[in-house]
Amino acid sequence: MTELKLHEKHLEKYKSGYPLIFKEAVIGYQLIESSGLEEGSLIKLTDEKGKYVATGYYGKQNKGIGWVLSKNEKESVGLPFFQKKLYSAIEKRLGLYNNPKTNAFRVFNGEGDGIGGLTIDFYNGFYLINWYSLGVYAFKSHVIEALKKCVEFDGIYEKLRFEGLESEHPDGFVTGTEAKFPLVIKENGVSIEVFFNEGAMTGIFLDQREVRRAIRNNYAKGKDVLNTFSYTGAFSVFAALGGAKSTTSVDLANRSKEHTEHNFALNQVSLDRHQILVEDVFNYFKFAAKKGLTYDLVILDPPSYAKSKDFVFSAEKDYPELLAEAIKITRQGGIIVASNNSSTITLEKFKQIIGKGFNIGKARFEILEIHQLPKDFRAHHLYEESNYLKVVFLKRIK
Ligand code: SAH
Repeated sequence: MTELKLHEKHLEKYKSGYPLIFKEAVIGYQLIESSGLEEGSLIKLTDEKGKYVATGYYGKQNKGIGWVLSKNEKESVGLPFFQKKLYSAIEKRLGLYNNPKTNAFRVFNGEGDGIGGLTIDFYNGFYLINWYSLGVYAFKSHVIEALKKCVEFDGIYEKLRFEGLESEHPDGFVTGTEAKFPLVIKENGVSIEVFFNEGAMTGIFLDQREVRRAIRNNYAKGKDVLNTFSYTGAFSVFAALGGAKSTTSVDLANRSKEHTEHNFALNQVSLDRHQILVEDVFNYFKFAAKKGLTYDLVILDPPSYAKSKDFVFSAEKDYPELLAEAIKITRQGGIIVASNNSSTITLEKFKQIIGKGFNIGKARFEILEIHQLPKDFRAHHLYEESNYLKVVFLKRIK
């Protein structure tokens, strides 16, 4: 095991259980990196005198160089270790496993469940593993073996979310039986199509489950809804099932239209009062303002960063402007659901961003409710960035 010494000033952090190994914390990291430490190597973190602090693995991601796995020097990181971590994660999700209305959720959430760089989601019989570094991928056989021992499944799939290596199977199929895509999952009784063969996204963002339910149950009835950055239209379908008078889904990706149509059809909602537009959201705002179109409920769920033909959008910089545009076409007393998923923007900061947006839009608002990650997306209490999701329901009061 490679020994890495920690700088004195970061010692307390790791002693108290901080999960991310970042290079500034390690003495002489440059040297270690250039000496060719292999991804997936186990690391013993020590103080300057060589006294044990924690065990981790080496695996470079944009955020750090690896993750802590244990604070017990005697614990070895083999199959039983992975089995224990998985088992304990699964136990915490039994409520979801036993929920007859929902069969898609997160089973294992990286550092929140004790292994950074690894997530596992369940989609109606199929498990999808996301590997975020070559380092964590080195533990693949243990993770698959452990999963096989812990659960029954139809099939296991993977996505390699790091550069330089691709899954052996084009769809990321690993073992079991292959799924037929699209696969249909259920969430709170609503059917949604998912697929593992269209890049990183799967057709549904599982972390927004409670937001979709809130929109359907409490905000949609009788409302004209605008869903921007609508992707497969999941928010629109939930709004429609909650009794929305109309929905308009806007996304610039061509494929979003067909996916959205399918999701409406799956839930027996005819498209009579539901529009699906392939268009740049910022152009649509201009169009709607010009035509005098207004809405009771506007959903803003942009990616953290997006580049289109006409605009570059970075949540950090451009969210106030996005909100201001949305305000122009939100009726008095209407609701804006403002979502942000950048790990570098805290809830406090996002509230300030929202304040700025309403200032530009010359409107006032009150916050009705705030959603963060659901329980299955377990965050690590010492690693603030793992708690990335902030969804604020705003009522326009002037
Ligand atoms: N709100 C969606 C997820 C959005 S994913 C849901 O809950 O399922 C981000 C989406 O934004 C992608 O589908 C992408 O095509 C779209 N997108 C990015 N920039 C855009 C722009 N300028 N105008 C419209 N859509 C955009």
